[in-house]
Amino acid sequence: MAQIQEHKIREDVRQWIKETWDPAISLLEWRTRLVEGKWAVPSWPSNWFGRDYPVWADEIVRSEILSAGAVTTPIGASMNLAAPTILKHGGEEQKTRFLRPALTGEETWCQLFSEPGAGSDLAGLTTHAELDGDEWVVSGQKVWNTSAHHADLGLLVARTDWDAPKHRGLTYFALPMNQEGVEIRPLMQMNKHSSFNEVFMTEARIPKNHIIGSAGDGWAVALTTLAFERGFASLKKPKYAKQKSKVLEEAEAEATEHFKVYSWYPQRAGRVDLAEGHAKQQNKNNDPNIRQEIVKLLTLHQIGEWTASRAKAARKLGRPPGAEGSIGKLMSSNVARQANKTHTLIAGAKGMLAGREAGYDGVIAEILLSTPAKSIAGGTDEIQRNIIGERVLGLPREPSVDKDLPFRDVPRN
Ligand SMILES: Cc1cc2nc3c(=O)[nH]c(=O)nc-3n(C[C@H](O)[C@H](O)[C@H](O)COP(=O)(O)OP(=O)(O)OC[C@H]3O[C@@H](n4cnc5c(N)ncnc54)[C@H](O)[C@@H]3O)c2cc1C
Repeated sequence: MAQIQEHKIREDVRQWIKETWDPAISLLEWRTRLVEGKWAVPSWPSNWFGRDYPVWADEIVRSEILSAGAVTTPIGASMNLAAPTILKHGGEEQKTRFLRPALTGEETWCQLFSEPGAGSDLAGLTTHAELDGDEWVVSGQKVWNTSAHHADLGLLVARTDWDAPKHRGLTYFALPMNQEGVEIRPLMQMNKHSSFNEVFMTEARIPKNHIIGSAGDGWAVALTTLAFERGFASLKKPKYAKQKSKVLEEAEAEATEHFKVYSWYPQRAGRVDLAEGHAKQQNKNNDPNIRQEIVKLLTLHQIGEWTASRAKAARKLGRPPGAEGSIGKLMSSNVARQANKTHTLIAGAKGMLAGREAGYDGVIAEILLSTPAKSIAGGTDEIQRNIIGERVLGLPREPSVDKDLPFRDVPRN
C-alpha cells in the first residue's frame, strides 16, 4: 500500500466522525459503526475490520475520536491481549467468532496463564485438557487472574500432551468463563484492593474449535500475548466528554466498572507526579538527601519516557517491536522502586498510616503498598533480564535440565 500521510488520516477520520457520530445512540451501536467504518483499529488488515494502516495510525485515530468527544474501543485485556493474539494466531473461524465482540465490548476477556506452581516457569504448568467428542474437558488451577470475576472468556494455556517436552505439549484455548466447571475466588491484596482471582476448573468444557493456533502450539501463542502484555503496563482511564448523552454515559459506566479493578494502577507505577508536591507539603523540600532522591526519580522517569518515545518513533518508521518492550518494563519497575523509596523518605513514620488521615488522602500509603507489584506483573524483573540477555544481547541461554524430557518425567512440586 502507498505510504499514507498523517494529515490525510486525520482529515478522513474527522470527516467520518462528522458524518457518523451520534451521542444519542447506544454504546454498542456506536462501536458497531466504528467497526463497520473500519476505524476501530485502522492498523488491522482490511479483511478484519481494519485499513492496513501502519501501527502509529491507531493512536492518531484514537486521539481524533476522543477529542471529538466520542468513544473508542473497550479498555482492558480484550483489546490489549486477546484481540491481537487471535488476530495473529487464530484461524478464520476464531477470528470470525471472537474479534468483533471484543471490538464492540460485547465480550470481555481475562488471562489464565499463571498457576501456583508455574509463574516465571510458565511452561511448567499442569492445568490439563483432554478431548472428549466435540469438547475439550479441562481441570486445574490458575492464580493472579486479573478481572476473571467479570470476564466472559479466558485466554487459557493448558497441557494437552504429557509425553511431549514441556514447551511443546501446550495448547491455547478460549475458555467460556460462565459455566459450572469454572469457580472464581477473588483474592485480597495487601493494599486492600481485589483485582485478581484464583480460578478453579473442574471438568470445565471448551468447544473443540475454541483453540487459538493449533493443538501443541500453545507456547508460541502465549509468547505473543506476553509480548503485547509488556506494552500494556500503563493503563489509564479515558477522559470522556462531560456531556449528557446515552453513549457517553454508558462508556463512563463501563470505564468506572472496569477501573474499580485498576484504580490502584497509577499508585503501582509510583506517582512520580506527586514527589515534589509531597516534599513541599511535608516541609522536606530543602532536605538535601530527599532532593537527591527526587532528582534520581525524575531522571529515571525521563529516561523511561525517552525509551518509550524511541519505541514509538521506531514503530512509526515501520520497524518491528524491538528490545524496548523488556527494557521499558524493567525501567518502569526501577522507577516504581525509586518512587517508593522517595515517598517513604518524605513521609517518614507517617508512611505507615493508611486511610484519609494519611498523606494525600491515603494515596501515599497506597503507593508504598502497590509498587512491589510493578516488578512482578507481566513477568518479573529477573525474567525481563533473562529475555534481554538471551534474545537481545545474544548471551548463552540459562542452563535447563528439563527442556527436552517428556513433561511426564519432569520432576515438579
Ligand atoms: C498485578 C498483577 C497482575 C497479574 N495478572 C495476571 C493475570 O491476569 N493472569 C495471569 O495469568 N497472571 C497474572 N499475574 C501473575 C504474574 O504473571 C506472576 O506473578 C509472575 O509471572 C511471577 O510468577 P510467580 O508469582 O509464580 O513467581 P515465581 O515464578 O515463583 O518467582 C519467584 C521469584 O523467583 C524469581 N525467579 C523465578 N525464575 C527465575 C529465573 N529463571 N531466573 C531468575 N530469577 C527467577 C522471580 O523473579 C521471583 O523473584 C499478575 C501478577 C501481578 C503482580
